Amino acid sequence: MRYSIATVSISGTLSNKIEAIAAAGFTGIEIFENDLISHVGSLTDLRRKMTDLGLTVEVYQPFRDFEGMPEPFRSRNFDRAERKFDLMEELGTDLLMICSNVSPHALGGIGRAADDLHELGEHAANRGMRIAYEALGWGRHVKDYRDSWEIVRRANHPNVGLTLDTFHIYSRGTEIDSMLNIPGDRIFLVQVADAPQLSMDPLSWSRHHRCFPGQGELDLASFMTNIRATGYDGPLSLEIFNDQFRSSDHFRHARDAYRSLIYLANETEGEPAITDTVSQPLQDIKQPTEIEFFEFAVNSEEHKALAAFLTQAGFSHAATHKKKQVELWRQGAINLVINREPESFAQRYHAEHGLSVCAYGLTCPDPKSIVERATSLGYDLVHANPEHDTHGIAAVSGPTGALLYLVDASDTPSHWEREFTHHPVEQDAMLKRVDHVATTMAFDEVLEATLLYRSVFQMMSSPSVTIADPLGIVKSQVMEVEDRGIAMTLNSTLAVGTVVGQSQSRYHGSGVNHIAMATSDIFALAEHLTAQGTKLMDVTPHYYDDLVARFSLSNEAVNRMKTFHILYDEDDDGTFYQLYTKLFNGRFCFEFVQRQGYRGYGMANAQIRLTMQARELDLLR
Ligand code: MG
Ligand code: MG
Repeated sequence: MRYSIATVSISGTLSNKIEAIAAAGFTGIEIFENDLISHVGSLTDLRRKMTDLGLTVEVYQPFRDFEGMPEPFRSRNFDRAERKFDLMEELGTDLLMICSNVSPHALGGIGRAADDLHELGEHAANRGMRIAYEALGWGRHVKDYRDSWEIVRRANHPNVGLTLDTFHIYSRGTEIDSMLNIPGDRIFLVQVADAPQLSMDPLSWSRHHRCFPGQGELDLASFMTNIRATGYDGPLSLEIFNDQFRSSDHFRHARDAYRSLIYLANETEGEPAITDTVSQPLQDIKQPTEIEFFEFAVNSEEHKALAAFLTQAGFSHAATHKKKQVELWRQGAINLVINREPESFAQRYHAEHGLSVCAYGLTCPDPKSIVERATSLGYDLVHANPEHDTHGIAAVSGPTGALLYLVDASDTPSHWEREFTHHPVEQDAMLKRVDHVATTMAFDEVLEATLLYRSVFQMMSSPSVTIADPLGIVKSQVMEVEDRGIAMTLNSTLAVGTVVGQSQSRYHGSGVNHIAMATSDIFALAEHLTAQGTKLMDVTPHYYDDLVARFSLSNEAVNRMKTFHILYDEDDDGTFYQLYTKLFNGRFCFEFVQRQGYRGYGMANAQIRLTMQARELDLLR
């Protein structure tokens, strides 16, 4: 299969789009009529530009409202098609995509549509052109690929073939096994798009919410398995209508587009194996197992305050870097690195974002496999520079600019031993390990992050849910590794007044909202924190009245929670206690959790947290 993308999928002028598409590695392009109409410049120059950049025009589209029309529309349509063939000749493409008719004038009938397509096939053949017919999910008479295939089959013309578009198939919930009855050489075009599962009309869903494969929730792997089984060997083309992509950096998004196809091509289940000339099978990986450390970028004032905050929470300054102004604070299996080394990545990050988590260390049983896979997918790898890095650890540059270090689990002595001087500490760890981390990012960054975590780390994601912040809606999605040793929630909003929105503007980009750590006795921990003077997030008394109503908890148990500002949730698998500190410098906080069987991350309590944090940040009047 050849990789292609429709110009509608990314932002900018047609020239911008062509440059970004070529730079990302594509060899095929679908020219969208609206982009061409608004292009300033000659077709000859445009064609030369694409040829110079190594791009082949796979298809020109869309040709609308063709089949089943009464006169005089019918004759006009044939004339219109001839004009498009003229234009296609100049552009150097031979394939015109026709989508099923949505006109109120359209007459139904599979035989009538097949006759029209046969006749158009004759016109096309005379011009050395071909046509590919697509069932739009909202076509007037033809909405289903099984009908469009029946029309193409009955048209029975070598220049008339089928377009299959994953969005139109899945948005109507159509079964995909009938695809297996279609000979691969009768399919002229395959368009792929992913999308979140939404309950809305297919037209609006399609026009605003399509996304790249690996960013949504459609079962594209099964589609790929079936399309390969047909023997299809034409273009695999992205056709993505997405509000965010239309307004964001075209070079960045074209790269994501290309890697989403490599990822998708590797999603085929079982045989046949990948036969694409452009894409090698991706390296199998062993997933990272846990977050080994968080690295904070601080200035010296923030350093003092953070050290005091960590001391109250039971952390100890366990080690100091042998050469740099970098400290390791530790409790249980939780490692927090505080970096204020001048001229470091951390300080550059600090200059841009202020106090923040600038890097994550992921414990990897086989980091080399992840490096290879990420490289094949075109992600930027940051390799340790032997001149100034002592750790020797490679990192993937995350969607938010923070580094994801790939720490080798079998490295002995560990980088902690090699790089740090350790201090004797006495510690009775109340906090055992990292439970999850909640991050905030822009909408389009969530899509980028989802593709990265899925394609490189093979993480799984939950469907996204909406949470009501008092000043706007926040979307939240969980990404997890298989045994949930690493879990991240990705939160985003378009509402600038929300805690998430404010965090984005304060951080000048994305950041950590909270790091959640597990304890086995949250009440003892709460008592300790209170005695130490740690400021805990307030919770309203009404929250506790509601707990009594929602769960079969004793008044006494709820009163204890109320005393220590502890939140509570249950699912079918067990119970969950949560305790938040107040925000540190208005930036992030720590969450302490105790879970017994419970599998979630306290989404039911997200609204109360966001409301209380909005109060802390003085966002509410
Ligand atoms: Mg389409
Ligand atoms: Mg949480």
